[in-house]
Amino acid sequence: CAKERGRNCYSFYTRELGTRVEEQAELENALHQALANNELELHYQPKVDLKTGQISGVEALIRWRRPGIGVIPPDRFIPIAEETGLILPIGEWVLRAACAQAVAWHREGHPPIPVAVNLSARQFRQQNVADMVRATLEETGLAPARLELELTESVLMQDRNTIAHTLRELKALGVMLSLDDFGTGYSSLSYLKDLPIDVVKIDKSFLSDVTTSAEGASLTRSIIAMAESLHMATVAEGVETEGQLSFLNRHRCHAMQGYYFSHPVTGPEIAEMLSAGTELPEHCRRREL
Ligand code: C2E
Ligand code: MG
Ligand code: MG
Ligand code: MG
Repeated sequence: CAKERGRNCYSFYTRELGTRVEEQAELENALHQALANNELELHYQPKVDLKTGQISGVEALIRWRRPGIGVIPPDRFIPIAEETGLILPIGEWVLRAACAQAVAWHREGHPPIPVAVNLSARQFRQQNVADMVRATLEETGLAPARLELELTESVLMQDRNTIAHTLRELKALGVMLSLDDFGTGYSSLSYLKDLPIDVVKIDKSFLSDVTTSAEGASLTRSIIAMAESLHMATVAEGVETEGQLSFLNRHRCHAMQGYYFSHPVTGPEIAEMLSAGTELPEHCRRREL
């Protein structure tokens, strides 16, 4: 900026910033009402077993449908919910709704597939999370083995003893624990080796690289191999192409999740897929050697 224009540039900057702060405040206000107004809903994305080609589970993903505005994606409001603490009631609602849906599918006659729920750092840290999960399982009647909790690496970047204790409490309930977005944080698989983690979900940023860069391919390969040696199952996120699938099959990844098979869909749509026996085509499955 030229000197005499400096003031204008500055006020332009603060105006932009002001708008963003207002937007944020507006979103926060609206989010306070969202739960009571029934504006939150869950979509479910199938996970597919690469050996059988069949749906082996689903992940619950929250959506906020704002009247007159449209659907707000979780990346825009989960961080606000985290900051304000609203994630605690929202997170409980998600867990209850997802467990109830899993029970409902089973009652409709579908095979009992596990449902995965994302737990945020604040939920993991601030609630007596294991008690909350136990109460929700009891209330909904879902078998603990049919619930999977997805944690990100940021959750694990706290005091190691506290984390290990909480993870063991959760594990003692009989639920499955998975590490979401693996590879984007700072944890190494060796850091995880004494923690009761069952599944590693390879972040979608790696998948976008496996067919285009040698580094991406070798990183993904080594994540799969290390997880295997630590007896953890692997799920690849964000699988969009057949090329990515054949890579995963060659390197013996266990399961996939991504637009190639299905976008996140509604509960009834999952029921339809289960009824129809929707599965991965034969040539996309992992062949036994
Ligand atoms: P995540 O748990 O890693 O979920 C996977 C995200 O990848 C979802 O985005 C999903 O729609 C998207 N995805 C799936 N397949 C593909 C693909 O093939 N290509 C691409 N590009 N993307 C794909 P979504 O639903 O927007 O959720 C974003 C994040 O928001 C989630 O990432 C999770 O961290 C958070 N989130 C969603 N629901 C909840 C919730 O109920 N509680 C909490 N605490 N966080 C949630
Ligand atoms: Mg997840
Ligand atoms: Mg993820
Ligand atoms: Mg994510």
